[in-house]
Amino acid sequence: MLNASNSIKRRGLMLVLSSPSGAGKSTIARLLLNDKEKLELSLSISVTTRPRRASEIDGVHYHFISVREFERLRDSDELIEWAEVHGNFYGTPREAAENALADGQDMLFDIDWQGALQLQDKMKGDVVSIFILPPSMADLKLRLHRRAEDTEEVIDMRLRNARNEIERWRSYDYVIVNKDLERAYHEVQSIVTAERLRRDRCPGLFDFVSGLLDEKID
Ligand code: 5GP
Repeated sequence: MLNASNSIKRRGLMLVLSSPSGAGKSTIARLLLNDKEKLELSLSISVTTRPRRASEIDGVHYHFISVREFERLRDSDELIEWAEVHGNFYGTPREAAENALADGQDMLFDIDWQGALQLQDKMKGDVVSIFILPPSMADLKLRLHRRAEDTEEVIDMRLRNARNEIERWRSYDYVIVNKDLERAYHEVQSIVTAERLRRDRCPGLFDFVSGLLDEKID
């Protein structure tokens, strides 16, 4: 992957996006992934034991697997992180993520705070983490109902869990309040652009600067 504003080589980064359910994280993630021209992010597709929603496609949104298969992957260290969220298991396949990063590609991880902590711990310098907050709890409830993809029971559980998730806000590098989607999206974009320009993420700068200093001028 090249630096955003020039042709200097840099390492891939791991963009971690977390939020309580209904705060707009999935919408922001979709916008980021569709912004092919500028951002070129690819999604890390998690495995999960949660039942597939009607709008979801196996292999695109998640790899839907059995608890048994999940345990096999987890126990053979094929997941770079994993967690139990809202009573289901979720995990990030190690191989796809490591290959992409080694290739200099930036990846988006839509994972919860437990996963974010594990990635921050294991992949220190490569992780950039963003937490999306709702403008209010009432707004969160409204959005969960409007989505109408889960049962009443599931919505209630997700609302109760939202408080625990929100309490983790301090572990993230950046925190964004999603009051206005367009604005929140631009803020995430700006973070990605700035993080790509960080000196310590661009080993290619050494050669570039040496070349610059060696350049003969008349
Ligand atoms: P949902 O069931 O709404 O798709 O996701 C529920 C929660 O699980 C979300 O907060 C989502 O970010 C999180 N999640 C999805 N995939 C993973 C994963 O691979 N690891 C972890 N730790 N959390 C995940």
